[in-house]
Amino acid sequence: MFTLIELPYTPDALEPVISANTISFHHGKHLQTYVDNLNKLLPGSPFEGKTLEEIVLTAPAGAVFNNAGQILNHNLYFTQFKPATAASAVMPGPTGRLKARIEAQWGSFAAFQADFEAKGAGLFGSGWVWLAAAQDGSIVITQEPGAGNPLTRGLKPLLTFDVWEHAYYLDYQNRRAAHLAALWQIINWDEIERRYK
Ligand code: MN
Repeated sequence: MFTLIELPYTPDALEPVISANTISFHHGKHLQTYVDNLNKLLPGSPFEGKTLEEIVLTAPAGAVFNNAGQILNHNLYFTQFKPATAASAVMPGPTGRLKARIEAQWGSFAAFQADFEAKGAGLFGSGWVWLAAAQDGSIVITQEPGAGNPLTRGLKPLLTFDVWEHAYYLDYQNRRAAHLAALWQIINWDEIERRYK
């Protein structure tokens, strides 16, 4: 049985970037539904007792993959945020080994941000844009439709922006790019650096 993760902040802590209303629906309704759906699908299936990662790596395209993928993706998504600060609103970004790697591959954090936002804005329909790491420490941006996760490409997921409309429509309506541009203010880079280790 899978359970809904607890948020490491209060529902209004990410305002104004993400409203308490959006958190309420996104975490309390959408993610809860994926959890409920997977728990109904698992009994008697080959995936009973497996971790979300194991299910995502082995399940065929279909309902089990989609619901397990969405739980895994949202768990990584919701635990990568922290409240915005005056500093993060002006100069967001990592400070450790990941900062050096981003600058080595993109030239600057700003160039990486622009690439990440463009790939998120350009993903047709519903899905996720990811920063993910390869075994050799190199990093890559991937666009994953639906419930996709870079795990299935042999990559370790580090950072993700959810581009399903349910992630932003209450606050930004059709302005996906504006939502993505605002998310940098609330990224917990200590957590992203921890995932990169
Ligand atoms: Mn979502």
